[in-house]
Amino acid sequence: MIFKVSWITFFLILISQFTFSQLSSGYILKPDWVFDGEEMHDDWIVIVKGNKIIVCGNEKQFSFSDFPKFQVKYLKGQTLLPGLIEGHSHLLLHPYNETGWNDQVLKESKAERVVRATVAARRTLEAGFTTVRDLGSEGAGYADVGLKKSIEKGIIPGPRMIVAGKAIVTTGSYGPKGFAAHVRVPLGAEEADGVDDLIKVVRNQIGKGADVIKVYADYRWGAFGKAAPTFTLDELKLIVEITESSGRKVVAHAASEEGMRRAILAGVSTIEHGDGGTFEIFKLMQEHNVAFCPTLAAGDAIMQYRGWEKGREEAPARIQNKRKTFKMALDANVKICAGGDVGVYSHGTNARELVMMVEYGMTPLSVLQSATSVNADIFQMGDKIGKVKNGWLADLIAVEGNPLEDIRVLEKVKMVMKDGVIY
Ligand SMILES: [Zn+2]
Repeated sequence: MIFKVSWITFFLILISQFTFSQLSSGYILKPDWVFDGEEMHDDWIVIVKGNKIIVCGNEKQFSFSDFPKFQVKYLKGQTLLPGLIEGHSHLLLHPYNETGWNDQVLKESKAERVVRATVAARRTLEAGFTTVRDLGSEGAGYADVGLKKSIEKGIIPGPRMIVAGKAIVTTGSYGPKGFAAHVRVPLGAEEADGVDDLIKVVRNQIGKGADVIKVYADYRWGAFGKAAPTFTLDELKLIVEITESSGRKVVAHAASEEGMRRAILAGVSTIEHGDGGTFEIFKLMQEHNVAFCPTLAAGDAIMQYRGWEKGREEAPARIQNKRKTFKMALDANVKICAGGDVGVYSHGTNARELVMMVEYGMTPLSVLQSATSVNADIFQMGDKIGKVKNGWLADLIAVEGNPLEDIRVLEKVKMVMKDGVIY
């Protein structure tokens, strides 16, 4: 009996030492190419210990023998790059061709929405997007804050999340719409107007866990259903002042020229959509250092849901306008935040936006920078993520081939590491 126990103990010690040595070491990654967040290198290795990048650079500078017990991973024919950063997601929404937005907000239970978001979070991570800026729970309250906490605690796999919570709209502007005046429906965002109300709502959203404040600077509530401004310039300035005094940034949904102008002058950090932008407006964005998150893939998806047969039919006016305005933004040298409004289309297909950015005239190198180091900087996380750099968090992915030659290889993710853990 004693003999048996001692053998079991011996094996347990062996196993634990084996596990310990696995944990205490790290990875030596040897791909064909490394994109470091700014440029491409073809002779680099990257060494990860714990959750950090501890070494990166020309392989000739390092000897593998200096890193005993480190697991060497040869990533033949692959490019290693920082984990991609999605600039505009809604993990609590799913594609509108499955269920329309109104029905998601009004007919799906909170439980169903959270379960769907849990699956969406895993798919996002598996697609190589290790961070998302999730811009509004759309009627699901602070479920995004809970989702983020669950990922941080390791309960479910998912990306790092920067969350907006409920988002802020003016009274009367936001949906669900189409109900008789006496019917009260729960809204997809929180209404607030005027000085006292706005101060209270912004502070309350921050208190409940919002990392950014999202505001709808305009919405489709204008005459003839057009996008028209919602908040006054003074209201937007107040929202920015209250938000920034907490160290956070304001993100503005704006699709009209005047909505964009007010958001820029108020000092928001990014403008989402921007379909009504003119060259002058984009120039103004550039001067005020406001980044543009174009959400190309959302419009592309919505027009296809409405029957546009892409590739077989001429692009509808909305798509042609999107191409034109995106080009204007590039010509005006506006900082581009990569974000597709994913949730309108399937989670896990986030790279669709990056492919479209190239299709619409951006260079593959600029797109890679935008989805890594540029987004990280805009989201105030540029000192932790978005680069392959010593001391940065080990959020790294490997894709098949070289994305500078074909951006679509971003859809062929071979390895995902977040915080030093391979998924
Ligand atoms: Zn959105």
